Amino acid sequence: MTGFDTFVVVDWSAAKGVRTPGRDAIWVGITRSGRDEEPRHFPTRRDAESWLADFLRAEIAAGRRTLVGFDFPFGYPEGFARAVCGSADPLSLWDWLADRITDDDRGENNRFDVASAINRMFPGIGPFWGKPQEDGYPDIPYRGTHRDGHGMAEKRVCDRAAGASSSVWQLFFNPTVGSQALMGLPMLSRLRRITGVAAWPFEDWGEARAVLVEIWPGLIEPAVKAAGDGIRDAHQVRLLARALSRLPAEELQAMMQVQAPEEGWILGAGHGERLTALAASSLRPPPLSNDCFALPPGVDWTPVNDALALLRDRLRPVTGMETVAVAQADGRILAETALARRANPPGANAAVDGYGFAHAATGKGPQTLPLVDGRAAAGVPYAGTVPNGHAIRILTGALLPGGVDTVVLEEDTRSDGAAVAFNGPVKRGANTRRAGEDVAAGDEALPAGHPLRAPDLALLSAVGLADVPVRERLRVGVLSTGDELAAPGSTDDPGRTYDANRPMLLAMAARWGHAAVDLGHVADDRTALRDRLDGAAADVILTSGGASAGDEDHVSALLSETGSLTAWRVALKPGRPLALGMWDGKPVFGLPGNPVAAFVCALIFARPALSVMAGGPWPEPLALQVPAGFTKRKKPGRREYLRARLRDGRAEVFASEGSGRISGLSWADGLVELPDGAVTVTEGDPVRFLPYAGFGLG
Ligand code: AMP
Ligand code: MG
Repeated sequence: MTGFDTFVVVDWSAAKGVRTPGRDAIWVGITRSGRDEEPRHFPTRRDAESWLADFLRAEIAAGRRTLVGFDFPFGYPEGFARAVCGSADPLSLWDWLADRITDDDRGENNRFDVASAINRMFPGIGPFWGKPQEDGYPDIPYRGTHRDGHGMAEKRVCDRAAGASSSVWQLFFNPTVGSQALMGLPMLSRLRRITGVAAWPFEDWGEARAVLVEIWPGLIEPAVKAAGDGIRDAHQVRLLARALSRLPAEELQAMMQVQAPEEGWILGAGHGERLTALAASSLRPPPLSNDCFALPPGVDWTPVNDALALLRDRLRPVTGMETVAVAQADGRILAETALARRANPPGANAAVDGYGFAHAATGKGPQTLPLVDGRAAAGVPYAGTVPNGHAIRILTGALLPGGVDTVVLEEDTRSDGAAVAFNGPVKRGANTRRAGEDVAAGDEALPAGHPLRAPDLALLSAVGLADVPVRERLRVGVLSTGDELAAPGSTDDPGRTYDANRPMLLAMAARWGHAAVDLGHVADDRTALRDRLDGAAADVILTSGGASAGDEDHVSALLSETGSLTAWRVALKPGRPLALGMWDGKPVFGLPGNPVAAFVCALIFARPALSVMAGGPWPEPLALQVPAGFTKRKKPGRREYLRARLRDGRAEVFASEGSGRISGLSWADGLVELPDGAVTVTEGDPVRFLPYAGFGLG
């Protein structure tokens, strides 16, 4: 058994007390089945431990193998365990500590008492050092240099290999690695007892369903730095979980082959550069596999919904990531969860212009409060505290001064400049906004995969983000095929057809936020087509024409040669077999040549497929139920799309259903979708109208 499905990285904390979400919380990064999840935070060690225990049990029950990394030492320098608990086995030391360390649900703990007791077991002064006050805990020296004669090495072999500067003996002042280990090892002692869980490298982990490992985010520091704004601990756990998940199974397996039965080892020590490269955000996901579009054998006509479900299931993002300024991010796809750097609003403030005061000093009936000098305005806060029973002039957006919890609207008051009068009762907190009432610091502002629109730029800015990681634009190549095609206006030969699909498909790709790449036109010539596909600077290719199985259908023929063609006979009208295949790791969508069919197939199939490949959601078209302004009898078998527009609240359809009628596409503002089965539509019957705008074509 080699691979892992789920990678968890825990940024532990030795802090006492309950931590607010933000930099001081315990952070957990998760990458599951290749997908990064948003980092989680926990206010106390207890919360984190009970979540971890539940999570491990759930992953094991679901049949997923899990690697869990913790950023504190699993062992101590040689000789320590034996001196403390009589056995060189670090697992005995874990249990010894678990019996002695206390940690309540508010994070209060006895680690300095336990460290004192341990120091007393050693000769000289130390090995533990560092404490909050110089005169507390007499058995623990305040500074590392005050230690003497305790006989323990300063670092483990792996700390030196990893280039870690911190020491496992240090209990106070950052980095408090020593305290983290004292507060973490008891947890490991308990987690390890869950059936299927093993502690690396001390136990036989080869067959374990979940393996606890020691990690150190310092190994990927350059990637963390490059991640830019945001909560550092959250970046660390997210990037390290991602880096570990991207290691090929054999490489990870090789990294785990270490002999360190007493001191333990930092997983990946000596491989920092490799892990940093894997964590780096510009990394592209692996290409889609060649059998991506395979259909189950024996499939004849595929209903539209089945075809869509297959695409949705098989496709995944293929683009890398880049960082852009929020102001430039409209239309881009958020690559990672955006966490609020700061709460919105950052402080309690006034929602209106008026007068602020302490609610407690007011009651029912007419109220008169003397005014303090000065005022509170947005950006110009009032420095003092407003005494109980007094009021202050306050303007919209001003931070509430000390002593103010309620604001009365200016229009509801009378004032002579010295006092303000109004009618009570006023609700406590009236006309104020609580700090963080919109978004709390550290909370998710927007999820990964969210397509950014104008209001999102406001939200990201309001929570303090100046730039954001977005997906690189998906490069969508558009190619026309056919001997008969000619550039518009280039010839008067009635035997030639002007290339109408290419400008249409390029414009659609651009509207959908992708980088549209014009791959030009190739004649019905297999070699020329092969060269064009080979040279295409694109992540995905849309071709039109030549997609059937006829003599001149070279797109199908060529894709068949690579062994990856699937001609999807989708039951829809207008449309013909959709040729889907892979060319050199790139999906190729072979659309019909007929422009009406090419347009409909691009809207229904290419649009959601491209969105997913670009890292975005699977978009459902916007559908309106409207009365029909037409009559139609439809046979069963194929879903049908009619060129349609709304007039007087009714959907009217284009006079001709002829698929050569390109003018009908322009006449229309959308499509009417008729179901797969037989249907008779009479005027006034409700029908599904899909406006072009709902497909992102305004
Ligand atoms: P095909 O799918 O190649 O058999 O083409 C079906 C019909 O669509 C033929 O009448 C082609 O001439 C026409 N067609 C193919 N490609 C284009 C294009 N790029 N622009 C306009 N018509 C096209
Ligand atoms: Mg053709």
